[in-house]
Amino acid sequence: MTERAKTSLAVLGATGSIGRSVLDIVGRYPDRYEIMVLAAHHNAEALAELALQHRPRHVVLTGSEAFPLLESRLSETDIHLHQGDAALLSCLDEDIDLTVNGISGIAGLLPSLRVLQHGGTLAIANKESLVAAGALLKDTCQRYDGIILPTDSEHNAIFQVWYERHVKTISHITLTASGGPFLTTPIEDFPHITAEQALRHPRWSMGPKISIDSATMMNKGLEIIEACVLFDLPEHQVEVMVHPQSVIHGMITYSDGSTLAQLGPADMRVPLSYVLAWPDRLPWLAESQDATDHPKLDFSKLDFMPLDPARFPSVELARQAWRQGGLAPCIMNAANEVAVTAFLQHQIGFADIMASVEHTLSVMSVGKEISLESVLDSNDEAMAVTRSWIAKKGK
Ligand code: NDP
Ligand code: MG
Repeated sequence: MTERAKTSLAVLGATGSIGRSVLDIVGRYPDRYEIMVLAAHHNAEALAELALQHRPRHVVLTGSEAFPLLESRLSETDIHLHQGDAALLSCLDEDIDLTVNGISGIAGLLPSLRVLQHGGTLAIANKESLVAAGALLKDTCQRYDGIILPTDSEHNAIFQVWYERHVKTISHITLTASGGPFLTTPIEDFPHITAEQALRHPRWSMGPKISIDSATMMNKGLEIIEACVLFDLPEHQVEVMVHPQSVIHGMITYSDGSTLAQLGPADMRVPLSYVLAWPDRLPWLAESQDATDHPKLDFSKLDFMPLDPARFPSVELARQAWRQGGLAPCIMNAANEVAVTAFLQHQIGFADIMASVEHTLSVMSVGKEISLESVLDSNDEAMAVTRSWIAKKGK
C-alpha cells in the first residue's frame, strides 16, 4: 500500500476558539496532517505553547508588541518566526493544501484572498470577510480555481446536505439560531445588559466578538448574508428559525416537499472535522475515549419558533443592507465591529450597538462597485464614523 501524503495546513487565528478546535482534531492525526503555518495576533504565550505542541514550519504573530516573547519562547526550535500582516500573507505563499481562517473580524479578508489567489482551498469560518467582500472572494475563487469550504456551523450544515444537481429546485434554506442569552429577557431590561452577561452564551463556547454578535443576533444577520454569498441564493430564500437546543444547524427545503437537515452537537469540532477531511469524513468521535466528546443528543425536546424582529432588529437590518447592495454590508459589518469592541470595553450600552450601526449606515454612501480598494476604504470610513458617534455619545 502506498503511503498517503500528509495534508499541509495553515491555521489562522490559531489561539482562538476556532483555531484551538482545529488543532484539537489535527493533534489526534499526526500521520494525516502537518502544520505549515500557525498564526495569531497578540497572544504570543498561547501561540508559542501551540507551536511547541504542533511543531509548524512557520509561526506568525501579526501584532508587534509581544513578538520578543514569542522569539524567546521558541528560540530553541527550528520553527521560522515572522511578525506582521505582510509576513502572514507571504507565509500563505507556501505549498499549503488547506487553510482554515479562524481570524475574527475584517482582518481575515486579505489572508482569505491570498489563499484563493493561489487557487488554494479555504475553510472559511471568518464570516466578516464574506459579508464585507463576498463578491470579491467569490470572483477571486472562480478566477484562480480556488475552493471555499463553508465552515460556520449553519453553512457547513447546508454544505453537507447540498446536492448540486438539485440546486434549481431549492425552495429555501433555513439557518437555525439558538437565540443567544437574551431570548426571553424582557426587552425593557436590554439597556442594562452588561458585557459579562452578553458573553455567557447558553450553547456555544466562542470568542468574544461572535458571542456579542450572538447576543444581539447580528450574528444571524451576518450569516444570512454569508449564506447568500456562499450558496448564491437571493436573501428571500434564506430563512431563520430560532431553535434553542442547537441540535439542527441548517436545512434545505426542496420544491418537491422534502427538507434535508444536518444535526449534531453544538461543538464546532463537528463542522471543522468535516472541512478538514473533505471530501471524506474523519472518524474522530469513534476513536475518542474522552466522554466529554460524546454529548448525547436529546431529540425529545426540540423547540422551534420564529424570530422576534422587535427583540432582534439586527436581522432585518442585515437583510436590508444586503438588499441595498454595494458596500452596505461592508459598512454594516465595520460599524458593528467597532460597536462590539466599544461595548466590550464598557463605552456604550447593549442597545447602542444597533443604534451605532444604524447611524453609520444612514450617513454613509453605499456606492455600487466592489473592489478591494473600495471595500477597505469603506470599512475604514465606517469604522471612523462609528468611533466618532460613540465618542460624542460618551460626552
Ligand atoms: P476568537 O476571538 O476566539 O479568536 C480570534 C483569533 O483571531 C485569535 O487567534 C486572534 O489572535 C486572531 N486575530 C484577532 N485579530 C487579528 C488580526 N487583526 N490579525 C490576525 N489575527 C487576528 O474568535 P473565534 O475563534 O470565536 O472566531 C473566529 C472567526 O470564526 C470569527 O469570524 C467568527 O465569527 C467565526 N466563527 C466562530 C465560531 C466559534 O464557535 N467560535 C463559529 C462560527 C464562526 P490573538 O489570540 O493573538 O488575539
Ligand atoms: Mg454560525
